[in-house]
Amino acid sequence: MNKPLALHWKIIIGLVLGVFVGIALNLWWTDATWRSLGVGDKTAYLAGTDAAANAEAGPVAVSVRFAINATQFAGKLFIRSLRFIAVPIVLFSLIAGAASLGDVRQLGRIGGKTLGLFLITTIVSIVIGITLARSVAPGERVTPETKRQLIESRSAEAAAKAASGKASIAEKTGWDRVLETVPINPFESLAKAEMLQTVFLALVLGCCLTVIPRERSEPVVKACEGMAHAITVFVEFLMRTAPYAVFAIIVPIVATVGLDVLQALAVYALVVVAGLGVVLFGVYPLMLWTMTPRDNRVTFGRFFRAMAPAQLLAFSSSSSNATLPVNIECATERLGISKDVASFVLPLGATINMNGTGMYLSIVAVFLAQLYEIPLSLADQAAIVVTATLAAIGSAGIPGASIALMVIVLEAVHVPAEGIAIILGADRILDMCRTVVNTQGDAAVAAIVAGSEGKLGKASAG
Ligand code: ASP
Repeated sequence: MNKPLALHWKIIIGLVLGVFVGIALNLWWTDATWRSLGVGDKTAYLAGTDAAANAEAGPVAVSVRFAINATQFAGKLFIRSLRFIAVPIVLFSLIAGAASLGDVRQLGRIGGKTLGLFLITTIVSIVIGITLARSVAPGERVTPETKRQLIESRSAEAAAKAASGKASIAEKTGWDRVLETVPINPFESLAKAEMLQTVFLALVLGCCLTVIPRERSEPVVKACEGMAHAITVFVEFLMRTAPYAVFAIIVPIVATVGLDVLQALAVYALVVVAGLGVVLFGVYPLMLWTMTPRDNRVTFGRFFRAMAPAQLLAFSSSSSNATLPVNIECATERLGISKDVASFVLPLGATINMNGTGMYLSIVAVFLAQLYEIPLSLADQAAIVVTATLAAIGSAGIPGASIALMVIVLEAVHVPAEGIAIILGADRILDMCRTVVNTQGDAAVAAIVAGSEGKLGKASAG
């Protein structure tokens, strides 16, 4: 009997088909095509509002509108379903995970290793980003004319994002941010999907469960394990629909991305992609090779085979939070990381460890400084490392989250915030790439921590 195609191949097929269909629509489905179908105002037509300009729209236009709406619906439904389980999976699996680690000292040791590795990988990524951007100098390759056009086309949007970023910086000090990880009302944290607060809640409960008598803690831990298991079944079901969902997510993104903007920013975008590639295919595999046990090494092939579904999903969804349930599933079932370590490291990483985002922010800062002809001293570059690290930690795991925090990095090196308008048009595509690095950094750290604790099994990708 023929072996069924592995899940990641099916997702890749969905992705590639989606990219092709998206490009075809982007290039050939123009306003003239809409007009030939009797649609004069496509925005009003797609929104379903009554516009006199669309009075002649016939059955073909109706079918096209239905296909567009159905595709967008399918993509959004999939992402929503993943985000809907992100909070419960963190809560239940982290409580069960922390409780089964056995004692608070072990938790402290694992926590220390995890945070140390998170910080190191973030800083290494940022330094690679700065070095690459300085050596290729993409900012010196954009003509003043292109710069003016890019600023004009997106200035209002950029100003709004910069203002919201500035407001959030002005409102909160570093102390406030640390304080905010402790929820006043944990139910509110769950309701608002505050990931860091949820992690805090689960860790505290998990630790306390290890202290109370076993006959009291056991039923709670068992219940949490049962809930986590039930959610996993749902993730498995969702993953079977992933190839179709990925297609539905990708088509509208590629169909509407500004190809002209991408072309104008090609060198810059390539620097970002190359930097992310160095971290994903160089730094992580090297760390895994040198830091996992010799008799159970996580090789390049083993890592990518096991984690492929999560990587493809991160790419399609641009959201670390939405990818979290699948990242946990791949890390435990396919890579062999124990449940307790995976359910501790991965939720924490999805919230604070964003290596791709840190690198992206540093490249943007260097690129815009070159464009505005602002020289960067060594002290300026150090300021980029510090601010990009903080912004990456503060960035939420949702699409485009880091844009608002970009102001922190730009202001540190005196680059005008209006520069955000220049890179905005290329952000969506680069967000997809950096989210892969964000999520895989967490998985790599989880594998290393698990290996060092004797909690890395030999499970392999199916
Ligand atoms: N989309 C990214 C993530 O979810 C965050 C960002 O860089 O905007 O990991």
